[in-house]
Amino acid sequence: MNYVVPKTALEASKALVQEGAFALAGGTDLLVKLKTKFVSPSMVVDIKQVPKIMGIEATADGWWIGAATPCAEIVEHESFCKDWPGVVEALSLIGSTQIQGRATLGGNLCNASPAADSVPALISARGTCIISGQSREREEPIEKIVTSPGVTALEKGEFILGFKLPKPQSGTGDAYLRLIPRSEMDIAVVGAGTTVSVDKNKKITSIRVCLGAIAPTQIVLDGLEDIFIGKEPDENSINKLVSIAEAACKPIKDKRGTIEYRTKIAGVLSKRTLTIAYERATNH
Ligand SMILES: Cc1cc2nc3c(=O)[nH]c(=O)nc-3n(C[C@H](O)[C@H](O)[C@H](O)COP(=O)(O)OP(=O)(O)OC[C@H]3O[C@@H](n4cnc5c(N)ncnc54)[C@H](O)[C@@H]3O)c2cc1C
Repeated sequence: MNYVVPKTALEASKALVQEGAFALAGGTDLLVKLKTKFVSPSMVVDIKQVPKIMGIEATADGWWIGAATPCAEIVEHESFCKDWPGVVEALSLIGSTQIQGRATLGGNLCNASPAADSVPALISARGTCIISGQSREREEPIEKIVTSPGVTALEKGEFILGFKLPKPQSGTGDAYLRLIPRSEMDIAVVGAGTTVSVDKNKKITSIRVCLGAIAPTQIVLDGLEDIFIGKEPDENSINKLVSIAEAACKPIKDKRGTIEYRTKIAGVLSKRTLTIAYERATNH
């Protein structure tokens, strides 16, 4: 197995185009898969020295988060935490302190697990990612990347360079919750990320709810605008949200929960994240 550390995005793409090449960011998924012989790379491409791939910074219209920035660095960024507390909640749940010192958003997305914690939060925040390839860079909504468990829409030689999140307009709040069977270090039975914006009368002007671990890929709930826009949430609209969340579920059944349990929890977490996000929005 070869190991390379490209210094430019083009060098990284040229290395990644080779058969059996894998990108290495924090390695918290890849090394586990290597050790258990789930994958046998012919080449490991350590992408951490590619320019712009490490670090978090405010930009003219929002935030840039390099795809190989460790979660620990992101959760310590005070202004980012103020802007996107729900995204930070999601990152803070990944593994342990040790794991967070290495784990990255690029790895969490491209590992393509339906239960990845950061992904529903980033999708609900309407994040996009910049994909670097041999001949071009392209920008895609995050929900376009994972196509099925363990599979992404990235083409040969492509990798995620970084993520863009908008600057939340005044009156915006987000929240992320997950349920795990244990109190620590487990995979989500369901994860829910919600972002809402409100006007000065506390009426909702935009809403996005994304669920993880309830289907082969993360699911953005449809039809919420008709229920919530122009109104404050009430029992009736929240019950409709719960029904939509439950109807969107196509979960697996495993040792962490039955299909019925996951379906029920999807409704509960949708309701709870909406309540938290709405409260944050009205105080922002
Ligand atoms: C003990 C433990 C606990 C964990 N707990 C959680 C948890 O609670 N929640 C959760 O969501 N995850 C959890 N994970 C999984 C893992 O830590 C996360 O998915 C992490 O974010 C992966 O990031 P990484 O940088 O380590 O990825 P890596 O292992 O470096 O890479 C993962 C995959 O993505 C590819 N890749 C990495 N970066 C890029 C890129 N920029 N562009 C294209 N492809 C790329 C790699 O080739 C590889 O296939 C846990 C893992 C462990 C070992």
